Amino acid sequence: MSVKTKKYPNKKIIICNNFIDQEGNKTKRGSRDDFRSIRARHLLPMQKICNDKNDNALNEWIRNAMVFYDFCNYGLALNNLQKALSAAKKIYPLIFYYIRICEHIVSTPLTIEDISYEKYSEKYNKYPKWIRWIYPKPKNLMRCKWCGRYTDYIYPNVPTYGFMKGENSCTFCGRMYPMPSWLWDSPDGRAYSYFRGSFNGEEFYWEFEKDYDPKPKR
Ligand SMILES: [Zn+2]
Repeated sequence: MSVKTKKYPNKKIIICNNFIDQEGNKTKRGSRDDFRSIRARHLLPMQKICNDKNDNALNEWIRNAMVFYDFCNYGLALNNLQKALSAAKKIYPLIFYYIRICEHIVSTPLTIEDISYEKYSEKYNKYPKWIRWIYPKPKNLMRCKWCGRYTDYIYPNVPTYGFMKGENSCTFCGRMYPMPSWLWDSPDGRAYSYFRGSFNGEEFYWEFEKDYDPKPKR
């Protein structure tokens, strides 16, 4: 199944540096209060779309997409995201960024090193457990969501405190926060990072401004 996804929205959504939270309070983006409610602000509208459709399969595709995305399984996440989008077009603003990341990685060729890592891991996992100890255990590598290279898995919430940028960066491309995260790659998660200035370099901000109309701009 293939659903044509737009690279950038036709009409940009305005995202201000303040928003009204569920209790009606004006909240600053990038603040602690913003952080506390990101998950709910993203999941509730998604849940509403699923409830309105009353479609069990849609619920299942979204749930699977979340799990596969957070486990860096870009191919299976994409498959589930595309099915969900076919069933509910309204969900597009909430999931287009995940689709973009997955499409990008799925279409990024593996290097020779990456292919041999995949082959060795596959071979190792096929060995019965009792004999595995004689072979070196493959490292826990995952594909970076920016460059597609296998790099050390880093839990997306590993803090950098604004200066320890290397703590959560890809070994190859050097970009920060290389692991996919359903939470941080959501519209409100990205807005939090934009207004907080969480990233080094310009790519993240450039891409955000292609998708949204932030007020004020960074
Ligand atoms: Zn990378």
